[in-house]
Amino acid sequence: MVHVNIAGALADLYTLQEHDQELDRIKEKQEQLPPELVEAREQWSRLSEKLAQLKEQYLALQREYHQNDLEIKDLAAKRKQAEDEQLQSSSLREQTQFENRIQQLSTRIDELTELTMPILEEMEELAEQIKELEAEAAELQPRLEALEAENAERVAALEEEYQTKLARRQEMAGSIPASLLREYETIRRARKGIGVARVRVQSGVYLCEACSVQLPTHVAQRVYQSQQVVRCPGCGRLLWRGPENQE
Ligand SMILES: [Zn+2]
Repeated sequence: MVHVNIAGALADLYTLQEHDQELDRIKEKQEQLPPELVEAREQWSRLSEKLAQLKEQYLALQREYHQNDLEIKDLAAKRKQAEDEQLQSSSLREQTQFENRIQQLSTRIDELTELTMPILEEMEELAEQIKELEAEAAELQPRLEALEAENAERVAALEEEYQTKLARRQEMAGSIPASLLREYETIRRARKGIGVARVRVQSGVYLCEACSVQLPTHVAQRVYQSQQVVRCPGCGRLLWRGPENQE
């Protein structure tokens, strides 16, 4: 009879599953970042965002300042020209016209200068804030880098543990019939990491350990006979009768 020992294969599969769950736990641990690192990363991103925002504001003000400055220089040049022309003019009417023009230009220059002063002040304030945040970032950077390095080391150590345990798991998997292993792996992927469940006997009724559904007697019988692979009618997982002494 080309009949594999199903109960034995399921028992091996159950042990394999314990290894798989351990591998899952290692992967989860790798993903779990230390709270100090999470906090430092958040702080870093808050600082970077704030800095970028302030620098953008600073540049906008700088552009505004330069524009005003150029306009003031242009107006001053025009006023100088008007003054020169006024000096050369002998007509009283023209003199008055130049005088008015000079007045207008001076008023505009004063207005613009007044507008420009607060821009400069705001720029100074921003520059101060940027300096403070940059100092904060400079202080945070080595701490963040140290935490990142520490975490990378932690993840690498877990990876080594994972690879070692994975090799042992693969070795163990080699002794399990391939079709059963494939079925188990498919179910495990779809069912929260559990592909094979034990049958639990409780007050004379048979339950699936994974989903707690009560197994009809004929299903339980088939599981105990171990002539074929039986799946739980509730969750679809492979059912193993469990260690002999459980009966
Ligand atoms: Zn079940």
